[in-house]
Amino acid sequence: MSAIALVVAAGQGLRAGGGTPKQYRPVLGKAVLSHCLQHLGSHASIDHIQLVIGEGYDDLYAKTVSELDPAIERKLLQPIQGGATRQTSVYNGLKALEVMAPKYVFIHDAARPFVQARVIDDLFAALSTHEGAIAALPVPDSLKRGRNLVEEDVDRSQLWRAQTPQAFVFSTIKNAHEMAYDAHQSAFTDDASVLKAQGLDVALVRGDEAMFKVTEPEDFKRAEAFLMNQFNDIRMGQGYDVHRIVPGDHMWLCGVKIDTDISLAGHSDADAGLHALTDAILGAIGAGDIGQHFPPSDPQWKGAASDAFLAHAAKLVREKNGLIANCDVTLICERPKVGPHRLAMQKRIAEILQIQEDRVSVKATTTEKLGFTGRGEGLAAQAIATVRLPG
Ligand code: MG
Repeated sequence: MSAIALVVAAGQGLRAGGGTPKQYRPVLGKAVLSHCLQHLGSHASIDHIQLVIGEGYDDLYAKTVSELDPAIERKLLQPIQGGATRQTSVYNGLKALEVMAPKYVFIHDAARPFVQARVIDDLFAALSTHEGAIAALPVPDSLKRGRNLVEEDVDRSQLWRAQTPQAFVFSTIKNAHEMAYDAHQSAFTDDASVLKAQGLDVALVRGDEAMFKVTEPEDFKRAEAFLMNQFNDIRMGQGYDVHRIVPGDHMWLCGVKIDTDISLAGHSDADAGLHALTDAILGAIGAGDIGQHFPPSDPQWKGAASDAFLAHAAKLVREKNGLIANCDVTLICERPKVGPHRLAMQKRIAEILQIQEDRVSVKATTTEKLGFTGRGEGLAAQAIATVRLPG
């Protein structure tokens, strides 16, 4: 069996705060919509994905697409524009799919990022006997009706919380939406209601708590925790680097240019901070060391900005579907004074690694004028990094 997924992402969704519609707000560095497309599109029976997006969000949409695996991106059809209500947006989407005449359509809200493959399987199974089927969960709590006082108990045994995806025979749900549109019925909050209004049966399939809706600010924390739980293979790596101090007029340290009367000598830009951190990340994923990836004997790295080394290590982590949980760099020198540049360094490292700034720390210390760092002959840097891989 196969189907086209119709993902409604046209809402303003400003209740979650932050000024950007919630489907474009990040959870662990990727947009909610990106997580949604990734989960939905990973199912082998979802052939294509038709997105309905709001007007004026082309840039955010493009950024979201850039976060997807190429295999998922290939499933995306040209997005179409939504309407004033969810119902209109879905109707627009169904009309756009008419030319493809799919047998089944799975209608899904972008705000539910973690679609579970088991639920998609069960929805397909239900479609063999019904025109429509929805994911839904029973209500575990006792239910009461009333305003300030309990007026009556409500029997919860036949109550369900509707989720999405909601799956339908394409022609049936398209006709149902058409009839609702023609009859000016515009108050339906989901597609099961649109079908039911035509007197057709909708099957209930057990949903999954993981398919919760991201609406309020605390839902973003829940989404982050949910994702973090998938990254249980926790790795640590450490790195250490030293460069000689020579007379000069500037030095690069942790990706920041510092104007001073000393420099660091080295084949590249000699940024010992970024070198130590690159080694820490490579160490965490067992990927050798910086010299192996960027041999000093290779002339192309002469004078190179060390940003590229660190960005490469971060890319290797992403290719393993991992994330960098935090990193901590200690610079050991008498000069230059690191304090005034510390925040800029943390910001620059966060940019290169594409992680939040509060996951990056840069500190400095001296060695009380002892040893080569104390005598100002060289600058040392050490770093540790925590990487989380799926496991
Ligand atoms: Mg070095």
